[in-house]
Amino acid sequence: MRREDLLDLNDVLQHPGRKVAVDVSTELPDEADLDLVTALEGFLEAVSTGNILLITGEFKTKAVVECARCIAPLEREIAFQIDEQFPVEGIPSSLSPNDFARVVADEPFQLFEGNNLIVEALLRQALLLSIPIQPLCEFGWDGPCPVAAQRGVEGHPSGPQKTGLGTLSKFLHAEDQRR
Ligand SMILES: [Zn+2]
Repeated sequence: MRREDLLDLNDVLQHPGRKVAVDVSTELPDEADLDLVTALEGFLEAVSTGNILLITGEFKTKAVVECARCIAPLEREIAFQIDEQFPVEGIPSSLSPNDFARVVADEPFQLFEGNNLIVEALLRQALLLSIPIQPLCEFGWDGPCPVAAQRGVEGHPSGPQKTGLGTLSKFLHAEDQRR
C-alpha cells in the first residue's frame, strides 16, 4: 500500500552519514481538531548514525484558535521544531551483505511503516503540542471584553469569586437602604 505521506528512509538507514532533506507542505487533511488557515510548511532532515536515526526539521502554519476568555476565533501563527531520535537495529546493508538496518518504532502510536516515516503522524503530534494553551484576543484578561460581554461569557479566571462578592455587596447595599 502506497501512502502519499510516507518518507522512505531506507537509503538513509542503510548508509549511515547520508542525509536526506525534503520540503513538506501538508493541509493535514485528517486532523479534525485543528482549523488550519494555511498549509503546514517546512522541511525535514534525516540521517542515521548507524544506531540512531535523527530526524530534525522546522515548520510553521496559521491556525484558528479560540480566545481562552471569550472564545472569539483568533488566527495564530504556530511554529515548531522537530528533533526526534529513534533507535536502529541491524547492520546497514552497505556494511554487511547479510543484514539491513531497521528503525525500531517504540512510540505509543504508529510513526513508521517499515523504514518509511509516516510524515503526517509526526507533524500532527508536534503541531498539537505547539498550539498555544491560553490564547487571548486583544482585550486580554484585564478590563472589559466586549466580545465576552456580548456572548454572556464571564470567562475571567477570578470571575466566579468576583461575581460572588458583587452579589454580596448588592445584598448589603439593599440592607442599608431598608434601614
Ligand atoms: Zn477574548
